[in-house]
Amino acid sequence: MKNLKKQDSAVYKAAMGELKRQQEGMELIASENYVSEAVLEALGSVFTNKYSEGYPGKRYYGGQEYTDVVETLAIERAKKLFGAEHVNVQPLSGAPANMIAYAAVLNPGDKVLGMDLSHGGHLTHGHPVTLSAKIYDFVRYKTGKDGKIDYKALEEMAIKEKPKMILAGFSAYTRQLDYKKFQKIAKKVGAITMIDIAHIAGLIAGGAIPNPVPYFDIVTTTTHKTLRGPRGGMIMCKQEFAKAIDKSTFPGFQGGPHENNIAAKAVAFGEALKPSFKKYAAQIIKNAKILEIEMMKHGFKIMFGGTDNHMILVDVFSSKGVTGKEAEKILDEVGMTLNKNMIPDDPRGPMDPSGVRIGVPAVTTRGMKEKEIRTIARLINDAIENREDKKRIREIKKEVVTLCKKFPIYKNIK
Ligand SMILES: *Cc1c(COP(=O)(O)O)cnc(C)c1O
Repeated sequence: MKNLKKQDSAVYKAAMGELKRQQEGMELIASENYVSEAVLEALGSVFTNKYSEGYPGKRYYGGQEYTDVVETLAIERAKKLFGAEHVNVQPLSGAPANMIAYAAVLNPGDKVLGMDLSHGGHLTHGHPVTLSAKIYDFVRYKTGKDGKIDYKALEEMAIKEKPKMILAGFSAYTRQLDYKKFQKIAKKVGAITMIDIAHIAGLIAGGAIPNPVPYFDIVTTTTHKTLRGPRGGMIMCKQEFAKAIDKSTFPGFQGGPHENNIAAKAVAFGEALKPSFKKYAAQIIKNAKILEIEMMKHGFKIMFGGTDNHMILVDVFSSKGVTGKEAEKILDEVGMTLNKNMIPDDPRGPMDPSGVRIGVPAVTTRGMKEKEIRTIARLINDAIENREDKKRIREIKKEVVTLCKKFPIYKNIK
C-alpha cells in the first residue's frame, strides 16, 4: 500500500492496524473469512471506475468490453459451482439481495413463512425492525425440541396461512435442512420456495453439504462468508424467475453494479472451483464437529443437538453462568472474536442473550486443523472460567497470539 502510505497516513495507519488485528487475532465470528490476495487485488482494480448499468451485452453506457468479460466469468463460474439455471451477481450484499428477491415475486402485503430469529433465522427474514417486514406479512416458524426444524408444524402453518412464499435459510442454525420437505410443503400450498444460503454457500460449493439449488425457485447468498469471496451478494434462480430477478435488481433496486466487486467474485468463484476448495469445505465440517465435541467436554451446552455445518451455538449462561455479552467481552480481551447470540426462545433479551455463536471458517482458512481446534476450545473455556484473574487472562492472550502467528496470513501486504 505504498501510495496510500505516502498520501494518507491516517487511513494507512488504520489499515495496518486492522491487518495486524486480523493477523494476530483468532477470528471465530461464523460469518467472517479471509479472502486471497488475488481477490483483494481484483477488488482494488480499476473496474471501480466504471459505470455499467444493465447486463453483459445490454448496457446503458459504452466501454463495456472488459466489464462484460468479468461479469460473464462470474456468472458462468457461479452456474458451474451451484448448477444454477440463472445467476445475477450484481446484488451489493446479502440484505439487498433478499429485498430484491422479495420484490421480484411478491406484492406488498403478501405472506411469507420464514425462520424465527431466535431459532437461527436472519433479520432480513421478517424481523419487525426491517423494511421488508413493513412491506410483507412475515409469519415465523421454529425448531422443535430435538433442535431440528419442526416440519410437521411448518406444514400445518403453511396450510393454515397459505403463504405466497416459503423461505428457508439461517444465520445461527447448525443443522442440515431437509430441502425436499420444504419443496413438498410449498408444492402442497402453491408457494414459491426461496432459500438464503448466505452462511453455507461455501460448504455447498465445496460439496461438503447437499446443494439446495435444484430444489428451490430462488436462492440468495452472500459471497463473503464461507464462500470466501469479496463482501457482496448474489441471486440464483430457475429460468422462469430470471427476468423478474434481473429487473428487480436493476433498475428495481440498484443503479450501477460494482464491477470491481464482481471481478473479485469471479476470482473467488474460480478458487472455489479448484479441488483445494473441496478440501477446505470438508475441513470446516471436521473442525466444527471437533469444536462441538471439545466444548461439550468442557461442560458447555450446545444448542440444536449439535452441528452439521461450520458453527456451533453455545448456551454459555446455563453452562457457565456468564451471559453472551460477558463471554463476548472476555474473549475479546484474549484476542478471540465471536458474537453473542440468542438461543431459541431466549429468556434473556437480544442485547445480552444466553448464547454465543462460534464459527470455524476463518481459522480453517489459516490452515488450523483438529489439533488447533482442541486448543481453541481449551482457551475459550480457560478465559471464561478465569475471567476474574487478570494475570491468567494476559497469559491466555499471549497463547492466542502465538498460535495465530504459526498460521500467518497476508505475508505480502505492507
Ligand atoms: C449475513 C446474512 C445476510 C446479510 O448479508 P449482508 O451482506 O450483511 O447484507 C442475509 N441473510 C443471511 C442468512 C445472512 O447470514
